Amino acid sequence: MTSPATGADATETLPDYAPIPRSALGPALNDQGYYVGRVERNLYWVTDGVYQAAFLTTDDGVVLFDAPPTIGGNLRRAVDEIAAANGVTNRVTHLVYSHHHDDHSGAASLFDGDVVRVGHEETRRLLLRDNNPARPAPEVTFADRYTLEVGGERVELAWHGPNHSPDNIYIHFPDHDTLMFIDVVNAGWVPIYNLNLSEDVPGYMAAPAIALDYPWTHFICGHLGRLATREDVAVHQQYIADIEASSREALSTVNPVPYYMHYGENFWAGVKAHLDIVTERAAAPIIAKYTGVLAAADIEIFTRTTTFAIMQSLRLDSGPSGPVHP
Ligand SMILES: [Zn+2]
Repeated sequence: MTSPATGADATETLPDYAPIPRSALGPALNDQGYYVGRVERNLYWVTDGVYQAAFLTTDDGVVLFDAPPTIGGNLRRAVDEIAAANGVTNRVTHLVYSHHHDDHSGAASLFDGDVVRVGHEETRRLLLRDNNPARPAPEVTFADRYTLEVGGERVELAWHGPNHSPDNIYIHFPDHDTLMFIDVVNAGWVPIYNLNLSEDVPGYMAAPAIALDYPWTHFICGHLGRLATREDVAVHQQYIADIEASSREALSTVNPVPYYMHYGENFWAGVKAHLDIVTERAAAPIIAKYTGVLAAADIEIFTRTTTFAIMQSLRLDSGPSGPVHP
């Protein structure tokens, strides 16, 4: 009997991957494990290399956008450092949730007291459902649009339908030439499993075009160590468009009949064999094309599961799922 390897020898059989291109990485972290940088004027971003948050300093208080638990107490340190340097208050008066997921909001309760929490009405519903004291539900909510004005600064929040999550919003800083939109595009990297663990596949696929419709130069995408550019969003769009085209091609060219014949009354074995070959055929050229272009494209399971999700959405959302019986 062997048991799954844990501890020291657990890593001995792990595969190697291509080196991460320098262009996919961001600035070095400080001794406390974070980097804080100016996006434009009084808008700043904070990263621990994997997660990103942002904040605005104003004469009337600091507005924080997301509170990832991995950055946690370093959000406070970053705000204190910048507020002191700018000679403004370090008091966080507002917290805006991009969406309800804990990995972007689990440090929210570090900022309590008088803070006004703002989010989409679905974010409120989901946070009340999840009932986690680390993530208090927003008191100020909106359905489609909300203009947040603090200390003479303006931030435009908008919901354009479900994508990564049902409540994921676009946070536009019109006077800072910046858009913050989380968990759809990873600057310079492929999405992880299943289109970055997204719930609405057509919504996820359509979201980058909505993001590009806004005027901006800087893009805060929520993950990894650097800000994104319009070019990063365009490369991501092409990656997804290539997967869609490749999935259509594989769906229309792989004949399912031999797989179902082979497995007879084990229908699910036939389904598996058919969908696995379609996924493999659709994903292989994408993995080859983007290895060396997007970091971690050679972690094949990411592109395979994203391809599977898009291929299923083509069948089930777009249709047809198959020919109609005569
Ligand atoms: Zn998320």
